[in-house]
Amino acid sequence: MERFTIPWMATATLLVAAVGCAHGVGSGWRAAALPAVAGTLVSSGTAGLPDRSEVTAGQLVIHADFPLAGQHRLVRDLDGLRADVSQELGLPVSDEPVHLYLFDTVARYDEFVARTYPGFPARRAFFVETDTTLAVFAAWQDRIAEDLRHETTHGYVHAVVPAIPLWLDEGIAEFFETPRSDHGLHRDHVARLAGRLLEGTWQPDLARLEALASAGEMSQDHYAEAWCWAHWLLRTTPARKRLLEEYLADIRRDPATAPLSARLRADPHAGANPAAAVKEHLASLGGVTVGR
Ligand SMILES: [Zn+2]
Repeated sequence: MERFTIPWMATATLLVAAVGCAHGVGSGWRAAALPAVAGTLVSSGTAGLPDRSEVTAGQLVIHADFPLAGQHRLVRDLDGLRADVSQELGLPVSDEPVHLYLFDTVARYDEFVARTYPGFPARRAFFVETDTTLAVFAAWQDRIAEDLRHETTHGYVHAVVPAIPLWLDEGIAEFFETPRSDHGLHRDHVARLAGRLLEGTWQPDLARLEALASAGEMSQDHYAEAWCWAHWLLRTTPARKRLLEEYLADIRRDPATAPLSARLRADPHAGANPAAAVKEHLASLGGVTVGR
């Protein structure tokens, strides 16, 4: 997650957090990639934001360049995601609006991003948090459903756990971006990590993930590993799921809560060697034999 200042829907400069995601194309997010924008969205009107239609669905306020029915399958899916995120993570639901801005073409989206966020790296969708707003921006394209599930998950989570650590924020978003029927199983990540293990170029290391300070430092391998830890916590034993839920609840109360890796070392439910357990879990998902 990058933190940077940018004038946003107000004349005052506000603290903004943008979550850099694996959904970018090209080189992805970089530290300090977002200089402050000259002028404000207020002073430049809506700065080309989609406003042809507006649909409210639960916590979501969807602004689109095109007519979008409230009963559109995608809208229903994203609305239903709210309860799934809440139930899986043991988090309360929030009424804080999450605004989704859907551009009808990639060209229009790119033009908006270039004008509003100069220097912003090319990416298909992104999430921005300010003091007052949770917002997702995306272009309507082939992978819109996956992109919106990922970014909207950030919105739902940040509405109640704004201080969530970067690695876990992305691991959870990757968990929920898969179609609901996949129950969090991300096959691309399984294949990637299994391949890295066979190459001998990767071992799970939660403390290494926790040390990542900005999304610009996160490679695809990091996203895959973050997903894998999240999946291991949520899909292996009730005790591990509860451990994650308790960790998230503690971060809500105290953003300075000690990292999860320290908690795992002290918790018997995590097992004597969590990294080895994560590798075994990966092997069980991918059908590959994983050496210790
Ligand atoms: Zn993300």
